[in-house]
Amino acid sequence: MSDLNLLCLPCDGIGPEIMGASVEVLNAISSLLDLSVSIESGFVGLESLQRYGTTLQEDLLLKARDEFDGVILGPMSTMEYPSVSEGGRNISGAFRLGLDLYANVRPAKSRQGIRNKGPGMDLVIYRENTEGFYPDRNMYQGCGEMMPDPDMAISVRKITRRCCMRICRQAFSAAATRRKRIAAIHKANVFRMTDGLFLECFRDVSREFPEVKTEEILIDAFAALLVRQPEVYDVVVTTNFYGDTLSDLASELSGSLGLAGSINANAETGRCMAQAQHGSAPDIAGKNIANPTSLIWSLAMLLKWIGEHRCDPSLSLAGSMTEIAMDRVLANPENWTKDLGGDISTDEFGRRVVAALRQLPKLP
Ligand code: NAD
Repeated sequence: MSDLNLLCLPCDGIGPEIMGASVEVLNAISSLLDLSVSIESGFVGLESLQRYGTTLQEDLLLKARDEFDGVILGPMSTMEYPSVSEGGRNISGAFRLGLDLYANVRPAKSRQGIRNKGPGMDLVIYRENTEGFYPDRNMYQGCGEMMPDPDMAISVRKITRRCCMRICRQAFSAAATRRKRIAAIHKANVFRMTDGLFLECFRDVSREFPEVKTEEILIDAFAALLVRQPEVYDVVVTTNFYGDTLSDLASELSGSLGLAGSINANAETGRCMAQAQHGSAPDIAGKNIANPTSLIWSLAMLLKWIGEHRCDPSLSLAGSMTEIAMDRVLANPENWTKDLGGDISTDEFGRRVVAALRQLPKLP
């Protein structure tokens, strides 16, 4: 029996819809494998702003850190949030920093049957998650963005050796268990100090992993190469903002942003938060047509991550079975949501993943 306490925060836009489907899948795999999983829900985002005057209550963040094994966070409508002083806190930024979830792991792979621009694509982007250009998390005090006067805005980017070393180490460790190839994405020809420091760390860590073949690629060239030959790349490591952008590109190339799973994790503490790569998709919110694969895959990744960290094979198995069931459902065009060219609803997709789970042979 595994004891797993998860905090589930549906958040904004399509969040409640894709969370509903994901929780249904979680309940199904828990009962199939006889796992003891407890799920507590909370309000964050616009609902929390209305109820409590803030998009994220500090108590909830502390509770997530101290009382839960993992978090499942839905997407935020950040563009609709008021300023921080008016309660508009960036929730994922606060969780990533507050729980020190420094590695944002974002896979993208082409799947059997799904239209994609890169057959044979199977890559994972390791994005640094706690500094970089993000002004709400790159300062000890104050904010990394400022307006000296109404016609001038300045943004500061912070890159530290500590954060570069740990994300590179995570990415190399992953590459060593995959196809043993890693690409560092940078713009050190212009950002000589910041991206230069990142590259220096990448080269330092590479000496610990002589079996992993390395490449260093400028971000502008990489955007083109990713479209041209996505199947070539295995592990990609980069700083915060580049990783955010490139992972959306990679997921769309694999078929849809709706397929974009991810976790935010810390290898030392074992803390993990599942969170789809995409935003709250207000254009399709409330229509029950969003693709919940992104959050279901994120959930599977979270189960595997915690399973590996705890050396708990039943949680790892739960994650693997969830991924297998999800892939089987996606392989049949009759199961596709609108973004993939089908007409299945969000909750029906969740039910089909549950049915596929129940058809899987019980693995040892
Ligand atoms: P978005 O990622 O929400 O949507 C981009 C496109 O992808 C839209 O056409 C949308 O319909 C589609 N899409 C996204 N997820 C999908 C899914 N699961 N199934 C099917 N289609 C899907 O980006 P946006 O429209 O630029 O931003 C909307 C809001 O999300 C903004 O307020 C933005 O600030 C916020 N945002 C939040 C996060 C986050 O929570 N981590 C990330 C990015 C953007």
